[in-house]
Amino acid sequence: MDRLVEGHKQFLAQVFPGSRHLFKLLADGQRPEWLFITCSDSRVVPDLMLGTSPGDLFIARNVGNVVPVVSHDVDGVTATIEYAVEVLKVKSAIVCGHSDCGALKAALNRTELENLPKARRWLSHVEAAFSHRQPQNPADGEHAELAALIRGNVVAQLWNLRAQPSVARAVVEGRLTVHGWYYDILTGGIEQYDEGTESFLPLVE
Ligand SMILES: [Zn+2]
Repeated sequence: MDRLVEGHKQFLAQVFPGSRHLFKLLADGQRPEWLFITCSDSRVVPDLMLGTSPGDLFIARNVGNVVPVVSHDVDGVTATIEYAVEVLKVKSAIVCGHSDCGALKAALNRTELENLPKARRWLSHVEAAFSHRQPQNPADGEHAELAALIRGNVVAQLWNLRAQPSVARAVVEGRLTVHGWYYDILTGGIEQYDEGTESFLPLVE
């Protein structure tokens, strides 16, 4: 814990004073423009990747950047989506997967889950990745098979996102756009799913 306490000390001493005005505004409310759905993985740091600040991104995180299929059950992800769209009125929703994702690795290898009943049940949500699996990209080298499945999972979760009633309504009314991203930890690059060509293209050329 020492490192976290030390880090918080530095935040109070060096970061907070410089952004006092921003935090004063944020203390009374938030108006994030983007809903960002991503994996719990410690290597995915949205504000770092995107140059965003406190108040910019409304974030839902879970293992495998899952959006559960529409059902009568309530879960944290779909409740978060509904709130983001209906109350915060975000303008875009992004599902962001990442390279070397443990969730898809487990789905691919079918291992390591014997003693993890909760994780095993949760990971049934990523099974749809297999039917949306993308072509392998030689640039991914020895990880090409896994990377193709991870991209497939982004597409699968994007469909689930579109099917959420609040999202479907907002998209039809033209007040929300939805996007699927793949973040490569090794290169730092982001690819965006292009629905026209059904392929992932670099977000930045
Ligand atoms: Zn992951």
